Amino acid sequence: MEITVMELHEITAQIDTKLAEGIIDGKAIANEIRANMKIEIDEKGLKPYLVTLLVGDDPASQVYVNFKEKACNAIGIKNNVYRLSKDTTEEELFAKIDELNNNEEVDGILLQLPLPDHLKEQDATMRIDPKKDVDGLHFVNQGKLWVGMPTFKSCTPWGSIELLKRAKVTLKGANAVVIGRSNLVGRPIVRMLEAENATVTLCHSRTVDLPSITRRADIIIAAAGRINLITEDMVSEGCVIIDVGINRNEAGKLVGDVDFENVKPKTSLITPVPGGVGPMTITMLLANTLLSYKRKIGLEN
Ligand code: NAD
Repeated sequence: MEITVMELHEITAQIDTKLAEGIIDGKAIANEIRANMKIEIDEKGLKPYLVTLLVGDDPASQVYVNFKEKACNAIGIKNNVYRLSKDTTEEELFAKIDELNNNEEVDGILLQLPLPDHLKEQDATMRIDPKKDVDGLHFVNQGKLWVGMPTFKSCTPWGSIELLKRAKVTLKGANAVVIGRSNLVGRPIVRMLEAENATVTLCHSRTVDLPSITRRADIIIAAAGRINLITEDMVSEGCVIIDVGINRNEAGKLVGDVDFENVKPKTSLITPVPGGVGPMTITMLLANTLLSYKRKIGLEN
């Protein structure tokens, strides 16, 4: 990917045009961040290196890994995918992770999930050196996020917050409602919003009367994985919505958790699905890999 100043201007103009139409264009914002990373990598001669571990032959994982490879190549992040058979034992997987932990050249280790059933995802994730955990899933990094120390922020939550910031949404004092309490998405988003001085309510599958809570929200972040969970009657006029959900509807089309067509007219800003949070997740993985390299060479804390 050769990025010229002209192209960067065009991407920026596209983001602003979409914002004026009430859309937070995640694809364009991701491209802007990637272009700026590429410029920095080229100008400073940086050499970040990401290794992905793919165990087994899950078709969706193969697709994700290909996307990540392409994204790394486009901005000059060296990358390599180790494909391990679905019969890989825990001992073999841990040996591979240890080898990568000890390889000075490797800045980021990405363990593609899900793993085959006989392997414990949490144990394997915790085996990764926190200094190379560019997915931000190790409990050391989640803990650092919690107490406000520099860390690797997990990619989807970080990407969601960056969308709000790029769209210049006021977070300080905002009444934010997060729907979904997974360690991967909902919980870290709550902490990141609170760090930006929002007042945050966390909702989940046992929440009573969700509409009465979402109607009071300035910002809604939906991360439940339920089609049409958020409908027109559940949002207040002018609210901002980040739709993290990825679902397939009956027609096989990708949709989020929000009834986009009917809800959009009431919002001031909303992310589409696809083209919203999705492209940001890979972008923040690249950003964490670059950050890890810069920490290694003493450019960042
Ligand atoms: P998860 O299944 O681990 O968690 C879902 C959460 O939603 C749970 O905490 C549950 O309590 C809550 N929930 C479920 N039904 C609910 C309801 N009716 N009302 C209120 N809360 C409800 O899922 P996850 O890993 O956190 O992912 C959430 C969604 O985000 C999924 O659709 C997933 O595909 C998507 N996702 C997108 C990206 C991306 O890059 N765009 C990345 C990760 C996850």
